[in-house]
Amino acid sequence: MKSTTSCVGARPSAGPRVPHLPPAFDGYPYLVTRIGHCPLRHMAVLPAEWPRERLLDLARRQAAANRLDTCLCLGPGDAIYVTADGTVSEADSVPSGSPVVDRLVLAESFPDTPDLSARRAALARFAAANRGAGYIVGDGLESGRAAGHADIERLSGTGADGIPNGLTRCPDCSRFRGDYLALTGQGNGDMTPRVIRVHCRCENLNRCAGCGEPLANWRLSAYYWDEIERKVWYIAAYCALSHHCG
Ligand SMILES: [Zn+2]
Ligand SMILES: [Zn+2]
Repeated sequence: MKSTTSCVGARPSAGPRVPHLPPAFDGYPYLVTRIGHCPLRHMAVLPAEWPRERLLDLARRQAAANRLDTCLCLGPGDAIYVTADGTVSEADSVPSGSPVVDRLVLAESFPDTPDLSARRAALARFAAANRGAGYIVGDGLESGRAAGHADIERLSGTGADGIPNGLTRCPDCSRFRGDYLALTGQGNGDMTPRVIRVHCRCENLNRCAGCGEPLANWRLSAYYWDEIERKVWYIAAYCALSHHCG
């Protein structure tokens, strides 16, 4: 498993640069992966000679491994979205965002051709030309839900072991999981009492499509319980971009 210490906890200023929204890239076909709900979009060109079904199969496998929303872009008015849970829908517009390239490995490798090389080079120029300024903090999925009276009653305080009520140790990975009452702006600075979900290692479903290893040490766009610091940390989805195949 690869270290992602550079972005663990999504501490301020740890993230990539804040983008502005560029026009759509026109080097079809290509695959776009949404990075949480922040503006970053990972992009990779695909073989133009592949039939539509083969391209869609790759998009499905990519989404199934990464568990990130994925879009197959076939033309200016022709896109197929595959959600993290595998739902497929067609659309007449391609996604727009701040391009990131060469970070996520595709579910299938294919030989380089003059056409692919040319479009890959065009995509690299497109990405370089559309990088924003400033830094992204978080990925927009930190909120959880507002805590009601019953939640506050159930989750307030700690057990005899000092572990917050609502968290239990997973019998399989021995890490904590469950509901956590956020009262001090954990994750996004929102001081409204919120219920956030804490995930154990077993619940880290975000895998690299190339090597099958986790994209980060913990589930993306999710919280984990740090037993040493005795607090929750949020793992923003852009931590996936730090993965390197072993
Ligand atoms: Zn577990
Ligand atoms: Zn990998």
